[in-house]
Amino acid sequence: MFKVNDNYLKLPGSYLFSTIGKKVSAYKEAHPDKEVISLGIGDVTQPLAPAIIESLHKAVDEMAVKETFRGYTPDLGYEFLRSAIAKNDYKARGVDIAIDEIFISDGAKSDSGNIQEIFSVDNKIAVCDPVYPVYVDTNAMAGRTGTYNPDTELWSDVIYMPCKAENGFAPELPETTPDIIYLCFPNNPTGATIKKEQLQQWVDYANKNGAVIIYDAAYEAYISEEDVPHSIYECAGAKTCSIELRSFSKNAGFTGTRLGFAVVPKELKDREGTSLNALWARRHGTKFNGAPYIIQRAGEAVYSEEGKKQTAEQIAYYMNNAKIIKEGLAEAGFTVSGGVNAPYIWLATPEGMTSWEFFDHLLENANVVGTPGSGFGPSGEGYFRLTAFGSYENTLEALKRIQAL
Ligand code: PLP
Repeated sequence: MFKVNDNYLKLPGSYLFSTIGKKVSAYKEAHPDKEVISLGIGDVTQPLAPAIIESLHKAVDEMAVKETFRGYTPDLGYEFLRSAIAKNDYKARGVDIAIDEIFISDGAKSDSGNIQEIFSVDNKIAVCDPVYPVYVDTNAMAGRTGTYNPDTELWSDVIYMPCKAENGFAPELPETTPDIIYLCFPNNPTGATIKKEQLQQWVDYANKNGAVIIYDAAYEAYISEEDVPHSIYECAGAKTCSIELRSFSKNAGFTGTRLGFAVVPKELKDREGTSLNALWARRHGTKFNGAPYIIQRAGEAVYSEEGKKQTAEQIAYYMNNAKIIKEGLAEAGFTVSGGVNAPYIWLATPEGMTSWEFFDHLLENANVVGTPGSGFGPSGEGYFRLTAFGSYENTLEALKRIQAL
């Protein structure tokens, strides 16, 4: 008789977004006259930019002609896209990344979930708390996280790095040495970033301790401050200790179109001298048959002059929303952070209110939906996440309602 992978049974239910969905539906059903505004989701709302659409159309037409039709894509992705990435995301920032160090994928969620496969099951992971849940859940599925304690909401074999107001929502170097360190900046959910010198400390720590950093830079395009690094490879020595993950979802609206990439430098080796680039190439070649040609052409268009201009305008639109939310909340007396280099605003719930109590309060009294911080980990308790991905009009209206509370 077959048996399931027991590790899946250890996973706690993913209650966060389903609970939010249920609460919102129940509220709407009971109050059909109320217009509920969601600033809860992490999905973009602006359509794909014209330059991207034009490229998509062209690629679709190519698929209709025998001479230009494309079948399976190359393992690592098309060279035209990898070259555009190497030039625009790295070379332009003074970083040399070879195109065979870039692996095109269908997004950063897949990469951040799959990357753990090339590491030993004995490796110990360290994550920020609160955190994007994919890192921990996928390691739990692989049997790397020990047992889950529902009371503390913590796994026995995971090193948690609390990110709270006291440390500026930036993790501190852990006391127990991890093998794999997940970092995400600009951060989801806190919207926090770290400066280059802080990231350099992590790179030095990883190199000194033989650890690898999985650096999730999905929100890189939202960085507005000068001394915030866009890539971990801006730090000296990062190529021997880090993998970087990028996404086209938030910089160019590909959440439904799907495109991302991982950078695995050739210098990155484990203690036996095994190349992670070769292992990831092996894994990619075996388990992934490539992002579609038309989508890779759409990705290439993001780096065209028009594409850059148009996507920058979309980011500016979202960041204007972020400013409205952040300043509006501050005026209303809330303690807020994030929203400067990230589309997320992280606010402390009013005295004595848990994250979920504040969720209910906001839904019932302002008809605004956000995300309870505790859903991202125990250190998120007492916080609440609002996103800048809504429309300008809805953002203004939501803020007006929150201020009137
Ligand atoms: N990484 C982080 C930190 C995210 O917040 C998200 C999406 O919300 C992703 C990765 C997923 O990106 P993608 O759409 O490329 O899979």
